[in-house]
Amino acid sequence: MRCEVLAVGTELLLGQIVDTNSAWIGEELARAGIETYRHVRVGDNQARIVDSMRSLLASSDALIVCGGLGPTPDDVTREAIAEVMNVDLHRDPEIVEFIRALFGSRGREMSGNNERQADVPEGATVIPNPIGTAPGLRCPIGHKVVYAVPGVPYEMQLMMTEHVLPDLLERSGERATIRSRTLKTWGVAESTLAEMIGERVDVQTNPTIAFLARGIEGIAVRVTAKAASEAGAQELLEAEEVALRAILGDLVFAADDETMESVVLGLLRERGLTLGIAESLTGGLVGARICNVPGASDVFRGAVVSYSEGVKRSVLGVTAATQVSEECARQMAEGARKALDADVGLSTTGVAGPDPMDGEPPGVVYFGMQIGDAPAEAVRVQLPGDRERVRQFSAISLLSLLRTRLAAIPPDSPTLPPGG
Ligand code: ATP
Ligand code: MG
Repeated sequence: MRCEVLAVGTELLLGQIVDTNSAWIGEELARAGIETYRHVRVGDNQARIVDSMRSLLASSDALIVCGGLGPTPDDVTREAIAEVMNVDLHRDPEIVEFIRALFGSRGREMSGNNERQADVPEGATVIPNPIGTAPGLRCPIGHKVVYAVPGVPYEMQLMMTEHVLPDLLERSGERATIRSRTLKTWGVAESTLAEMIGERVDVQTNPTIAFLARGIEGIAVRVTAKAASEAGAQELLEAEEVALRAILGDLVFAADDETMESVVLGLLRERGLTLGIAESLTGGLVGARICNVPGASDVFRGAVVSYSEGVKRSVLGVTAATQVSEECARQMAEGARKALDADVGLSTTGVAGPDPMDGEPPGVVYFGMQIGDAPAEAVRVQLPGDRERVRQFSAISLLSLLRTRLAAIPPDSPTLPPGG
């Protein structure tokens, strides 16, 4: 079974939006074991969409067209599909009513243009869109099939997972269940990972193992297993996870939907510790990450964005001579603990760039940490990249540092160990 992808939209060609939909679809198809040879992007032009569709269909079994299902005159995917199928469009009254009701529920009047979204090529079936106006389409062409899905990413993703991928798998005659698990690593280069687990990557055909580079978020190792049943796929996954964790150990900080911050919050919660942060160059990024985790409030006390020297001194009680220093980082962590009445105090201070500061070059960052009444510690790092990257990197680095420290404290220890 081979399925190609056609992304429709002039914005994609002009570089106004990046075609993340094709990347997402490509990943899902690969996961499902469906081959893809070509991804194509085309502007909002009916003749050229028709051309691209014909060419892609000529050498494949299926085609996913994404985008151009909207109500405006430049959305012509429906017309192009009808032309390729060599049929007329008919307006589906049920869809018209669905869209009208949707507009009504939002207190708005449906415009005439929106009725176009109810146009369905003869012989096509409608893929429902519970979260938007444009329904998707499943269009048989001979023994091949074209799926049309909206350009809006979350609408597209919902339709893909609920309808298109299962349909493709069924057509391919494969009754397999595919499951995957992602082990997230941080602080290690892809080449090092490849050295560590390269052998497993090479020998494994089921489950398969892939590296997914996630920028400052680290590198994920995704394990995908295929089996006749859900239980069989889970069994394969679990065995591989055990083998990989045995090799990677502490480098794996999270799995699947977990994030660095959700893991850190979990570790704090298990130990009954609350957290307060003082942020200089990160300007609230660490606190924002923590607040992304639902239910953070039982652990997270708050963050002080102490960007100026004056605030470091007046709010946090910093007396250090320079702001970019170990001493300042330590005092900020202590100050955060005190000011925010937390068990654990964290801090960031450093040079985001582009200019040097306190005699330190851009990228030099100090992290401070105080756990309980143990003496505060400071760690100096030199981070790569521009201002944005240094700041983002600092936020996740600090969380990672706290994670390793907390992991060394047994969850049931009645008192915090001296020395943090
Ligand atoms: P709508 O009903 O919203 O008009 P549509 O099917 O016509 O949906 P488009 O108009 O092509 O979709 O795109 C709608 C929005 O979805 C775009 O403005 C863009 O933000 C996003 N989008 C479209 N195509 C892609 C893509 N290939 N990758 C990422 N985002 C996309
Ligand atoms: Mg549109």
